[in-house]
Amino acid sequence: MSYEIEKTEGEWRAQLSPQEYHVLREAGTERPFVGEYTDTKTVGVYSCRACGSELFSSETKFESHCGWPSYYAPLAEDRVQYIEDTTMGMRRVEVRCARCGGHLGHVFEGEGYETPTDQRYCINSISLTLRPAE
Ligand SMILES: [Zn+2]
Repeated sequence: MSYEIEKTEGEWRAQLSPQEYHVLREAGTERPFVGEYTDTKTVGVYSCRACGSELFSSETKFESHCGWPSYYAPLAEDRVQYIEDTTMGMRRVEVRCARCGGHLGHVFEGEGYETPTDQRYCINSISLTLRPAE
């Protein structure tokens, strides 16, 4: 797969903290309930921490109580990429940044949350940077 933003692993390592690198480039998962945006209600836009592409809006963030920031839709469908993930013995759909390929989290659907899409984009805080609205 090719992305608009392509960097070598060494370049990513130099740019990102070890924790950011682990999640964004190695598809790691942050521990639940510790991410800086889990309960954030600030109005603003969440961008990819690796490349700055705007990915999610606070308008679609909802309280899922799952321990990670949750959104019911991306800012625009072309901002993210979906990849089937069968690691850990489960069939899940991985969500990546469409611009740099950075791992964001997973999307689940049909869980019964009272949101317009019945989807939960379960995203690692460390993959995002919140820019509060003016
Ligand atoms: Zn990105």
